[in-house]
Amino acid sequence: MSDELRQGCSCSPSDDHCRPEGEERLGWHEYFMSVAHLIKKRATCTRGHVGAVIVRDNNILSTGYNGAPSGLPHCNETNCRIYRSVHPDGTVEENCVNTIHAEINAIAQAAKHGVAIKDADIYITSSPCIHCLKVLINVGIRTIYYDQPYKIEHISELLRLSGIRLVQIHVDSL
Ligand SMILES: [Zn+2]
Ligand SMILES: [Zn+2]
Repeated sequence: MSDELRQGCSCSPSDDHCRPEGEERLGWHEYFMSVAHLIKKRATCTRGHVGAVIVRDNNILSTGYNGAPSGLPHCNETNCRIYRSVHPDGTVEENCVNTIHAEINAIAQAAKHGVAIKDADIYITSSPCIHCLKVLINVGIRTIYYDQPYKIEHISELLRLSGIRLVQIHVDSL
């Protein structure tokens, strides 16, 4: 991880959370983001693959990837069904109606098994859309670590108003 990409992280270099340059052991941020990249390989929506990992105290609580609800046909077996919506700034957004986003699936998995995720962090291979961000705020996620930016301009106001942290952690994809 370069200094440039680490700049959003508040950890001190002495904190084991960030891996000092040259150290062999994988740091926690790289570890969890790498897991998120592995999880995205299970994604089934052909419009894009995203993985998410919910973490507290360096323990993985839940995971998710984007795809259709359990038991329903996946986009890679049928086809994506695209709908368009217009953002208040006038930009047109396309989404797949079949698909649950990765971070929502991670929250659903936690709920299904009764795992509390309040005050946890989440690692997502892409920054959240505005709809998922609203849910992440309400389940009590503290920090969102993302690798690739996705329409961050659409969530900037919500980030500012909510106080939830958004930090970029880049790892080379598996
Ligand atoms: Zn799809
Ligand atoms: Zn989303």
